[in-house]
Amino acid sequence: MTEAPFLLDADGVLRSRLLAAQSWLDHGFGTRLAGDWPKAPLLLKQIHSDRVVEAGTVRPGEQADAVVSNEPGLWLPIRTADCLPILLADPVHRAVAAVHAGWRGVVGGIATKTVAELTRRYGSRPADILAAIGPGIGYCCFEVGPEVAEQFQIAHPDALREPHESSPQTQRILREKTHIDLEATVVRQLTDAGILRERIAPARRCTRCDAKLFESWRRDRESAGRMVSAIRVVHEKTGTAF
Ligand SMILES: [Zn+2]
Repeated sequence: MTEAPFLLDADGVLRSRLLAAQSWLDHGFGTRLAGDWPKAPLLLKQIHSDRVVEAGTVRPGEQADAVVSNEPGLWLPIRTADCLPILLADPVHRAVAAVHAGWRGVVGGIATKTVAELTRRYGSRPADILAAIGPGIGYCCFEVGPEVAEQFQIAHPDALREPHESSPQTQRILREKTHIDLEATVVRQLTDAGILRERIAPARRCTRCDAKLFESWRRDRESAGRMVSAIRVVHEKTGTAF
C-alpha cells in the first residue's frame, strides 16, 4: 500500500507529505475545519491574473495571484474555493511561493511564471523545486462552456477531456459540455517548466464533491466561504553545508 500524499491534521489543515518532510518550512492547505489557520494577514487582492509578486514589495491591496519569498517567518497565504492552491518550495535556496490558479490563471501560465520568478530572484533550479497542488474543482465537476473550452483548446489542448468514451456523434455534443482537468494541466505545466514529476504532489481532491471538507464556489455560489492555504520559510539557510 502506498502512503497517502496528503494528510488531514488535528487543526483541519491538509498537509502534503512531500512538503512536510522539509524541516525548514511550514505549510498547509486549509479546509472548512481549519478555522482561522494560519492566523496571518492576506497579502494579495486576487484577481485571476498571471501576476507574480515578491512578498517584501507587496503594497496593501496589491493585485496579484502568486507571491514568492525567502523571508523566514512570513506566511504567504492565498484564498481559494474551487481554484487550485499551489505551493512551491526550493530546498536549496530556501525560497517558497504560493499560487492561486483558477482557469484564467492556468490558461495564463501562472504556475510556470512563478517558477520563473523563483529562478530570477533566488537562483532556484526547477529540478530542485517541490510542488504541492491542493484541493480544487475536479475534472468530475468542472464543466465549461464553449468559450472557456476554446481558450484551453488553444493554450492547453491536453486539458480537455471527454467525460465518456465518445463516438463522433457524442463528440459533437461534447463541444457544448467540455470537462477540464485543471490539476493535470498544472502538473503538465510544471513538468514542462523543468520540475521533476516525482517532486509534484497533486491532492486529487475535488472541492465541489466533498462538502464536508471543502468550500466550493460552484456548489454554493455566494454562500461559499474561502479556504486559506499558506507556506513560509521557518529557517534561513546558513553557511554552505547542508
Ligand atoms: Zn467533483
